[in-house]
Amino acid sequence: MSEQRLQEALSHLKSSGVRITPQRHAVLEYLMQAMTHPTADDIYKALEGKFPNMSVATVYNNLRVFQQIGLVRELTYGDSSSRFDCNTTEHYHVICESCGKIVDFHYPSLDEVEQLAEQVTGFEVSHHRMEVYGKCEDCQQTNH
Ligand SMILES: [Zn+2]
Ligand SMILES: [Zn+2]
Repeated sequence: MSEQRLQEALSHLKSSGVRITPQRHAVLEYLMQAMTHPTADDIYKALEGKFPNMSVATVYNNLRVFQQIGLVRELTYGDSSSRFDCNTTEHYHVICESCGKIVDFHYPSLDEVEQLAEQVTGFEVSHHRMEVYGKCEDCQQTNH
């Protein structure tokens, strides 16, 4: 399943004219496998053993390329630590306030919020963002 998504992403890169370097391949593979919405720093730390010449800036540059062709989404939280999400279908995030973990969930009926907002305000709505906060299962067990 994730192998197939990786292959699709790679052919999307190729058809967009993006050269696939070993580092670029590794960054993409890590993103597709990690369901944790990593930061550029997380990706760098995970891959620096394999690519000693790689810098955080290289990781960022690769993420920008992926973002430009629509393979990943950047999630900004008002600080310097953007997180990256390779799930580009509509979904929501529940965020752990203790460890920062982000987990995906789907709730299609919330799509109606956009239509409602348009009707009520006359805006032309482009998208919406909703986040749910709490304590993940791991954190519930470790620190009560
Ligand atoms: Zn947690
Ligand atoms: Zn997500």
